[in-house]
Amino acid sequence: MTDKSAISILVLDDDPLMLKLLSHMLADLGFPSAITSDNGRAALEMVDNPASQPDLILLDLNMPEMDGLEFVRHLVERHYTGSLILISGEDERTLQASAKLVQAHKLPVLGHLHKPVTPKDLAALLLKWSPLSQSKPRSAKKIYSADEVRAAITGGELINYYQPKVEVATGRVVGVETLVRWQHPVDGMVFPDQFIGVAEEHGLIDDLTRVVLAGALAQTRLWQDAGLTLQVAVNVSMDNLDSLDFVDFVAVQAAAAGVPPQQVVLEVTESRLMRDSRTPLEILTRLRLKRFRLSIDDFGTGHSSLAQLRDIPFDELKIDRSFVHGAGNNSTVQAMFGASLGLAKQLNMEAVAEGVEDQADWDFLRTTECDTAQGYFIARPMPAANLPGWIQSWPSTGAK
Ligand code: C2E
Ligand code: MG
Ligand code: MG
Repeated sequence: MTDKSAISILVLDDDPLMLKLLSHMLADLGFPSAITSDNGRAALEMVDNPASQPDLILLDLNMPEMDGLEFVRHLVERHYTGSLILISGEDERTLQASAKLVQAHKLPVLGHLHKPVTPKDLAALLLKWSPLSQSKPRSAKKIYSADEVRAAITGGELINYYQPKVEVATGRVVGVETLVRWQHPVDGMVFPDQFIGVAEEHGLIDDLTRVVLAGALAQTRLWQDAGLTLQVAVNVSMDNLDSLDFVDFVAVQAAAAGVPPQQVVLEVTESRLMRDSRTPLEILTRLRLKRFRLSIDDFGTGHSSLAQLRDIPFDELKIDRSFVHGAGNNSTVQAMFGASLGLAKQLNMEAVAEGVEDQADWDFLRTTECDTAQGYFIARPMPAANLPGWIQSWPSTGAK
């Protein structure tokens, strides 16, 4: 446990009674020297003074002069390095939205508290404070140049990882999603968010997808020959869908590998606005006519919308992980999960839950009609060689 006297705490609330109450609670919990302020302007002066700069601020969101979120904006301008606890009488969704906003500013939020605040809830959040939660220096992610990405594609530095998808009702492994990784000779393992965007912007995504798809199909055939029949999903960028050659490319590759189209899933997300929607629509419809399976990825996020669902003949809907993880105990998330699932069912599509991260997520899913699940709780993405061993050890028949 941290030395409590070493933490300097500021309580900011326009209500003098709340200030008294919170100071008393803090003193009872072993933090006797919290300072208080009843307005944002005065509090900012304390933040500006290195001698009184707090490590932790308990911040009321509703204040008449400068409200809590405006105060946060001033903290960001000042590069405040401490943590925050948000307090408000507002409803849970407003508090959650505020917490998200503050986190988006990269300020560590230990959590939020409803008024009336109880000592128990306050104590639970204070336990989370550690000097480390202060301004974690997140190493900025390196973004690679187009030349580097091009060299990686042609130089064979991209490798496919595979993440299992299992049937919710039985636990049976039904397939895998292919997720590309870059085995960088110096930087080690590089994840797709550091190079897919570059590839899309610089006209390299066709080459990338071709490499990934060819590898995934060849691997699926190897598994097949070893007696393991798996559906294989590959992520397809909208930018792959602007040239009609793509249809033939996919068909020829699948035929060459001897993998039937019904076993191949193409996961589509709209990472950028479509310039012209006719070509993608034609490509996807023709792939569907050839019996490839189409999946709408990250459903429910800004990029994968109802309009796409209306226009494109998808077979599968992947519910974005932000509507899956935590759905069991967050009624907002659960409502969105339920709506997405209902939509999938009404449109006769298979529903896949992404981001099944823990036992609670899995237990929740088992109470729903969701067909398939994918996520860290089941397995992390892995090299092809590890998959058969993982399947051996996976407790099927829903035993988990
Ligand atoms: P996605 O298609 O939605 O893939 C799922 C991502 O969520 C993967 O991240 C996976 O590792 C991660 N994930 C899986 N289970 C969990 C979980 O339980 N919790 C959390 N928090 N995350 C989980 P990854 O591999 O970093 O890929 C990120 C995105 O990059 C993918 O999102 C996909 O849109 C894109 N991507 C990956 N490979 C390719 C590719 O070959 N081509 C294209 N165009 N895009 C790709
Ligand atoms: Mg995907
Ligand atoms: Mg997804």
